Amino acid sequence: MGSAQVDLAELPAMKSNPQFIFFTDFDGTITLQDSNDYMTDNLGYGREKRRAGNIACLNDEINFRDSFRDMMDSVTKPYDQCIQYLVDNIKLDPGFAEFFQWSLQNNIPVVVLSSGMEPVIKALLEKLVGPQASQMQILGNDVAAREGKQINEEGGWQIAFKHPDSGFGHDKSVELRKYSSLPEQIRPTMFYAGDGVSDLSAASETDLLFAKKGHDLISYCVKQDVPFTVFEDWSDILGKCKEIVEGSTSVGQAAKEGYQAYKSGAAGINMGTKK
Ligand SMILES: [Mg+2]
Repeated sequence: MGSAQVDLAELPAMKSNPQFIFFTDFDGTITLQDSNDYMTDNLGYGREKRRAGNIACLNDEINFRDSFRDMMDSVTKPYDQCIQYLVDNIKLDPGFAEFFQWSLQNNIPVVVLSSGMEPVIKALLEKLVGPQASQMQILGNDVAAREGKQINEEGGWQIAFKHPDSGFGHDKSVELRKYSSLPEQIRPTMFYAGDGVSDLSAASETDLLFAKKGHDLISYCVKQDVPFTVFEDWSDILGKCKEIVEGSTSVGQAAKEGYQAYKSGAAGINMGTKK
């Protein structure tokens, strides 16, 4: 297969030889609120400054990594208290639990690709989905102690990026490419769901992108001509995936629908916001 061959042992989601894999963002996609935004807005420098950073990022004035580090640096509460605060406040998308059960029954591995921090995601998923959450592979950034401190003390932690040289911090396309470059006879169909600026690096690497209604990812997809389909919650994703798995619709057909929805105004983004 040549030198570009990927070692399958590195890809736990391939163990069951699946026909489909569902990759997904975590914050604001599996959860209703973005936990990092929530933390920044309530424990850090606040919503106004955070939103200005998101918009600067969407307009290419700052990269995601630097704007995200800035947000996280504004949160000085001890790390264990941050996690507890999020576990107490962040809620799951109402359709996700059913989707996840369906995915387990149909050999469709779920891989979480996040720009957030793995310890936060694991704590939230265990609370929100229960012990079966451990069957999801979770890839995100990590947390590190600041010099001379411990993470569970005031001002003691900082984000540790998975890909510090990438402007994305965690370049989701690196992991996705390991799958998209598999030999055709074993390469699964790749789904991806996301909502925001942190999904820009993944948007063009998968076969069908679900973009959350009314969120930044839709503006980006339209700007970059990346095909997508719109979802409001995970029951929409479940319905569409069932159609595709059963063969009553194709991935290509589903991808075409997003742009049509956007043009008709059904994607929840005003045409005037296109830049
Ligand atoms: Mg998100």
